Amino acid sequence: MDKKPFVTKEQLEIITKKYPTPFYLYDEKGIRENAERLKKAFAWNSGYREYFAVKATPNPYLLQILKEEGCGADCSSATELMMADAVGFSGHDIMFSSNETPPEEFALAERLGAVINLDDITHIECLEKTLGYIPETISCRYNPGGVFKISNEIMDNPGDAKYGMTTDQIVEAFRILKAKGARHFGIHAFLASNTVTNEYYPMLARILFELAVRLHQETGAHVAFINLSGGVGIPYRPDQEPNDIMAIGEGVRKVYEEVLVPAGMGDVSLCTEMGRFMTGPYGCLVTRAIHEKHTYKEYIGVDSCAVNLMRPAMYGAYHHITVAGKETAVCDHRYDIVGSLCENNDKFAIDRMLPEIEMGDLLVIHDTGAHGFSMGYNYNGKLKSAELLLKSDGTVQKIRRAETPQDYFATLDECPMMEKYRKHSEV
Ligand SMILES: *Cc1c(COP(=O)(O)O)cnc(C)c1O
Repeated sequence: MDKKPFVTKEQLEIITKKYPTPFYLYDEKGIRENAERLKKAFAWNSGYREYFAVKATPNPYLLQILKEEGCGADCSSATELMMADAVGFSGHDIMFSSNETPPEEFALAERLGAVINLDDITHIECLEKTLGYIPETISCRYNPGGVFKISNEIMDNPGDAKYGMTTDQIVEAFRILKAKGARHFGIHAFLASNTVTNEYYPMLARILFELAVRLHQETGAHVAFINLSGGVGIPYRPDQEPNDIMAIGEGVRKVYEEVLVPAGMGDVSLCTEMGRFMTGPYGCLVTRAIHEKHTYKEYIGVDSCAVNLMRPAMYGAYHHITVAGKETAVCDHRYDIVGSLCENNDKFAIDRMLPEIEMGDLLVIHDTGAHGFSMGYNYNGKLKSAELLLKSDGTVQKIRRAETPQDYFATLDECPMMEKYRKHSEV
């Protein structure tokens, strides 16, 4: 399938007159339409709700759009909780799925009324000590261990993952929590990341539904909700077949009717904590070609780097690239598209066939709407870019300004040597 950016060169030329590259651009219309499709796919489950994984794209304006679409927020840290709170998520709108959790973050989650999802059986004691009690509604994260395999391509090793409780532990955890006053229980598991298949959620659902029946029968606990978490992927490569969310919803429904309904558990609410699927395709990184280098290979240097988008450097991840305005040109040039870090893995693409790139061309790096900006860091003293929102009405709103040197030096606020650069951004 051809991958087309959601903006044209003409639009980008207008945007770049006001906002210098590099920047992230998000597509409100795409995010909303996708959220609507998801709701439709799970509409058969009356309690269904998506809790957007804030870590994927922690921007309050985007959270607000998803809130308007009926989503809750899935947080894993204090600052994510604060952002969710500020946007107006409250009480059970917030899922707190964290691990190795600092006690004060449990306390903040509880103050906001969030549903707390415990990653380990030992966290029961930590939570009780922190709060002085166990909340009435509580969730536990499960790890079935072993190897989880869907197809030849998708395999994950839950047995090697640091998350979740073993089967025996989760049974024991339910008993202990129940004895300590918990009344409504949730179960959560995340077994594979970025799955591009309609089989993942139904397979995960079967594992969790069977566990739910067992937990209910053995401990008498009321399983109120089952959380399929994240992991539904997106087609980063043009030759990948995208997930069909309607087929995924239908696949989960079949398992629900096969496992939960006969066990008298047809009132269990489902929830998801998707990040990538919700915003991934609806964001791009826009960057400009500023250097070309001909050595042992052909390089195009751009004005962004791995600090702005870490996935290629970190996982060798593929991100499709379109040269704006050359969408239909033949891809007869082989390039490495590189950033400016003093790190040889700072390459957005290696040996990528693209149209001839001229200096000043705008490059659209696709599918960066999740786990893109948010993974940013400041190595080499590089600064994070702005984030812009292409609104449904076609206008563009700056939803985060670019970092400045003052931001970078702000935490050296007690260092007199840095004073001049803390006050002035111009050299
Ligand atoms: C990262 C994460 C998610 C979101 O994962 P995606 O792959 O973006 O869907 C959901 N839940 C938890 C607990 C996570 O850590």
